[in-house]
Amino acid sequence: MNKDWSEKNKEIQKLLSKEATFSDAIEKLIEFRNELFQHITWIVEGYPKEAFYQQPFAGANGYHSKTLAYSIWHIFRIEDIVAHEMIAEDEQILFSEKFLKKTASPIITTGNELEGKKIAEFSKKLNVQELYLYAKAVKESTDKILLQLQYKDLKRKFNEDTKKRLIKGKCVSKDENAFWLIDYWCGKDVKGLIQMPFSRHWIMHIEAMLRIKDRLCKDARKGADPVAICGLSCNHCFLGAWCGGCRTKYNVCSFATCSEGRICPNVKCCNEKNIDACYECSELETCEKGFFVPSNDGANAARAQCLYIRKHGKKEFLKVQTRLHEKYEFEKVQEVIGQDYKKALRMLEEE
Ligand code: SF4
Ligand code: SF4
Repeated sequence: MNKDWSEKNKEIQKLLSKEATFSDAIEKLIEFRNELFQHITWIVEGYPKEAFYQQPFAGANGYHSKTLAYSIWHIFRIEDIVAHEMIAEDEQILFSEKFLKKTASPIITTGNELEGKKIAEFSKKLNVQELYLYAKAVKESTDKILLQLQYKDLKRKFNEDTKKRLIKGKCVSKDENAFWLIDYWCGKDVKGLIQMPFSRHWIMHIEAMLRIKDRLCKDARKGADPVAICGLSCNHCFLGAWCGGCRTKYNVCSFATCSEGRICPNVKCCNEKNIDACYECSELETCEKGFFVPSNDGANAARAQCLYIRKHGKKEFLKVQTRLHEKYEFEKVQEVIGQDYKKALRMLEEE
């Protein structure tokens, strides 16, 4: 488990066990859930539709054998059922906010019963944007429930009526891979539910999602030109674990994600000019588009890199980048290359 997340989780569990620190625990838990949820947001905002039904670790033993879409569905179906059927005893968000129709899900269950290719088939049917909104709505509603809890509520247990309600609701499949969940949840008190579906369960599945997305990015990069359109090197970029590169569909460079249609202005412009990249452009020295906007700290470093590529080719450029990154961190390299692009070009040539 991610060490930082594990430490945070441990601290929350410790604070949760004493009345004096209970409200701190809830505050920290919500803060931690926000941090974890941000990873889901980045994935949903950054990746193409097909990323959500790929199973790059199909058949593996672990949560990473699922898909990105399944993971989101599963985390938040469980939370919705537990938070609303068990703790708040009101209607689940899936039904009250009509997310069954909006997400186009063919199931109302947690998905535990799905195996192998069925996970990918199910994931393909989901409307990912609506799935994300469902996850967000469940998270926010659980946060509200958490804030209303008092220390004495932590010891609240569940009885046969809760079990019957869960069985009657059919939100847990009768399949042996799923049905055990009802006994498992009902064997816990509210504190136990906070410790698993609302925190540890998130950590385990979000870690698995990060593993899936790392692999998808790695696969997207195979055979793709590692020299970015703006003159950066994707092989040396600090965003390497998140971005497949601007020559692939997995482009999560901020200039792409913030632009209309999620297309980086430099990529768009090069496509219109029918050129490989900005280093082939006669306007490079004065261009202020996309990565070259004057407010971007790295603009002149990229410009110098483009000029270097134009003079010496991509192969030599990648070698210089490797030498620089052996000496400095990514941010430092930008700093070392500097703001004066002519000086920066000389510096790259001397390297
Ligand atoms: S952010 Fe840009 S340089 Fe970095 S990997 Fe993505 S496309 Fe390549
Ligand atoms: S005008 Fe700017 S963005 Fe367009 S190709 Fe030339 S250098 Fe790149």
